[in-house]
Amino acid sequence: MKMKLQENEFWVATFHGSHDGTTAKVIATRDDTRPEPYVWTCTCGVSRSFLTEHGVFPTAWRHTHPTRFDRLRSWAARRFRTAR
Ligand SMILES: [Zn+2]
Repeated sequence: MKMKLQENEFWVATFHGSHDGTTAKVIATRDDTRPEPYVWTCTCGVSRSFLTEHGVFPTAWRHTHPTRFDRLRSWAARRFRTAR
């Protein structure tokens, strides 16, 4: 997991939240040398990249602030896995 900015990277935003019962922090950066300049990376290891900043905020917010339905879905997925 990469939390240190590279030479071409600019800090865009940081999102604090939690998911799966643990705290999560997402760092969003911009790097014009990448094919998709906007990238966010979560402390859980998930990362997403986008062509514009418009994709960054809703998805990063959603990742760190799962809705009731997201929580239910991940709970159901866990329960289904352990049931087998
Ligand atoms: Zn995460």
